[in-house]
Amino acid sequence: MSVTVVGSIAFDAVKTPFGERERMLGGAAVHFALAASFFDDVRVVGPVGDDFGEAELDVLRGRGVDVSDVEHVAGGETFFWAGEYGWDLNSRETLETRLGVFEHFEPKLSPAARESEVLFLANIQPDLQRAVRAQCTGARFAALDSMNLWIEIARESLVQTIGTVDCLVLNDAELRQLTGRPNTVSAAREILGWGPPGPSSIIAKQGEYGAALITSDGYFSLPAFPLESVVDPTGAGDTFAGGFVGYIAAQGADAVDDELLRRAMAYGTALASFNVEEFGTERVARLTGEEVAERVRELERVTHFSDAPIALRG
Ligand code: AMP
Repeated sequence: MSVTVVGSIAFDAVKTPFGERERMLGGAAVHFALAASFFDDVRVVGPVGDDFGEAELDVLRGRGVDVSDVEHVAGGETFFWAGEYGWDLNSRETLETRLGVFEHFEPKLSPAARESEVLFLANIQPDLQRAVRAQCTGARFAALDSMNLWIEIARESLVQTIGTVDCLVLNDAELRQLTGRPNTVSAAREILGWGPPGPSSIIAKQGEYGAALITSDGYFSLPAFPLESVVDPTGAGDTFAGGFVGYIAAQGADAVDDELLRRAMAYGTALASFNVEEFGTERVARLTGEEVAERVRELERVTHFSDAPIALRG
């Protein structure tokens, strides 16, 4: 199968208590693509400006990602985002967002991208996500990520776009914000009820606490890989999504059931844990498949649980 992703391709300025980078390769689509490249053929759709060069494209090409749908906008500036993290990395403040070439972007997908069986609509303006979804007529499994900004300024468009995908991936706080419900599980169950068509699975990302999967008759929660040192969480959610969706693509988008989704979460969790160990794409760009496999095995070992029933009182 092949995976197409649309979303931001960016330069990020990031400051954490452990260091800073003034300008590094980032963007939701980039983090997603690098992670998904461990599983399947990946194509990135999105615009870049004059400031985006061969060195940046080579990071994606180095992992075999197809960049022929990356559109160079002459005279334009690449999407730019600046953020700063608090001391425990749980709080993040956006210091600057410059849409640049995304402001007037009209997605035009190549025939190969249109025929991808699996589609990921990474975080970007929901109208653009929907324009891509409409062109990807071959997609048998589509997932979507978004953020608080679009819930605040483009909620109606976002709700409409969510109605066109199979899986919604959002932070738990964003699920509550989107539905106005104070509880993550009830927020997810409400969204499952928006279809059909519409999502049949919801991933609630919970930062350092991991992620939960909510389906019509299932609930599964996986903690984050227990790391003692985290350097930069930027892109962790997109890297999780890349591992999660990439695994689904590799295993067959036609047979998606709860068991498959749960295993896919383990791969997303493993990939995300590498992403946060260094700044931006630095760690994942030189990661090996064997390292991913080893961390999934370790995650399986540390999260394993089996009951030995005892007589309970009362
Ligand atoms: P995450 O840490 O998973 O929220 O993703 C961070 C990435 O999202 C960074 O690499 C940014 O370039 C990108 N990003 C930040 N704000 C936006 C936005 N408004 N639209 C699209 N991408 C964004």
